[in-house]
Amino acid sequence: MRSLRKPLGILGLAAAFSIIGKAARFSAPAGHAAAVPKRASLSSRIAPASPPSGYQLTPAERARAIAYNDAETADYFLGVALAILINLMFWIGRFGVWLRNMARKVSSRVSVHCLIVVPALLAATALIELPVDLQSGYILERHFHLSTETLSMWLADWGKSLAIEIVAGTFLVWVFYVLVRRSPRRGWLYFWLLTIPLGLLVAVFEPYVIEPLFFKFTPLEREHPALVERIEQMLHHAGLYIPVSRVYEMNASSKTRELNAYVSGFGPSKRVVVWDTTLHALNTDETLEVLGHETGHYVLHHVVKEFLWDEMVAVLFLWLGFRVFGWALRRFGRRTGLDGLDDLASLPLAFLILTILAFLSDPAVNAISRHYEHQADQFALEVTYGVVSNPNTAEAGAFQILGERDLSDPDPSPFIRFWLYSHPPIAERIRFAETYKPWAKGQPLRLLHGASP
Ligand SMILES: [Zn+2]
Repeated sequence: MRSLRKPLGILGLAAAFSIIGKAARFSAPAGHAAAVPKRASLSSRIAPASPPSGYQLTPAERARAIAYNDAETADYFLGVALAILINLMFWIGRFGVWLRNMARKVSSRVSVHCLIVVPALLAATALIELPVDLQSGYILERHFHLSTETLSMWLADWGKSLAIEIVAGTFLVWVFYVLVRRSPRRGWLYFWLLTIPLGLLVAVFEPYVIEPLFFKFTPLEREHPALVERIEQMLHHAGLYIPVSRVYEMNASSKTRELNAYVSGFGPSKRVVVWDTTLHALNTDETLEVLGHETGHYVLHHVVKEFLWDEMVAVLFLWLGFRVFGWALRRFGRRTGLDGLDDLASLPLAFLILTILAFLSDPAVNAISRHYEHQADQFALEVTYGVVSNPNTAEAGAFQILGERDLSDPDPSPFIRFWLYSHPPIAERIRFAETYKPWAKGQPLRLLHGASP
């Protein structure tokens, strides 16, 4: 549901890694909170007869949302610039060469070299990036009263994320260099092909292995049987079948005041997750719209579709990246102590190129995401038609609260929308939610009736 994708993070191997490591996840809308909207004021705002009103903020709320988003955007670009600079310095300063020489003294095996070089490189990068990550992930969130976690909790999560990146990164780098050694010309292509089954495998196990490291998940039916009954009614009305045992509540309130929901997993692990903050802030009709949105991702197979589209973008950028990699090695390799394509000391250069390419691929990846998010918004309206009294006001009301709570930017610049928005801006979503009424014109519910459960 968030509008912005997370910045590249610690790993320079962002492009390949983000595809594999990305728990394809689709969220509903997002909002912000400190001046939390009260439920009472809400019901008056979404009175069934109210005309379309768009995204409503007081001047103070508007200024606060803009300040937060400006800071978040600045942190994002700063993070990218820093990642580029670190890898550039590691390459030119021959840090990779130094690490590779150390590893060669220990063993002659490539796998052992990877076990030494990759964790050292990733940990060094993470430590240099820590102040920026701390600013964007903790200080900024505390400043805007979005976070409820302590510094030690944040640092524990940071450590866990780094550990996961080191394990996954070491394995991927080892695979990459082995493939390039065997096939200097097509190694990149074999690597890309391998990311498809690997990515799907990660998607299957991520809800069991990764997510519980950060939050607790409880089947929704345990705490909210009445809501589950409404969900079943909604699905039954639409002729869909999704086991409600696959809908979970996540204890997001242990760390944040923001609202969200998402779909993750693949095959047997496919599931809908609603943050507990969302359940507390929305009334039942609004919650059903959020669940309708997530159900849309689920029923329309968005997880796997977006994954495959992202792989298309990745193959293009990997091809390009590998050519740039070969050119840079021929041009500067000797001067920077690198022996060739399969020399592990070239890792900072590879990370540098991938960081830049991952950044450049953001607009394409986000455009794909925005398309599916818009579809899910439409699906939510269709699936709740005839189940909630007024789908339009319920969905617009849910987005309004999400926007307020998550401090969504009321009017992002076209460039920022193009580059960073994985969801349409909240004002656009509210406008669509208020005006999409095919039933009023006797038109079919296209997404719902084209969907196969
Ligand atoms: Zn979504």
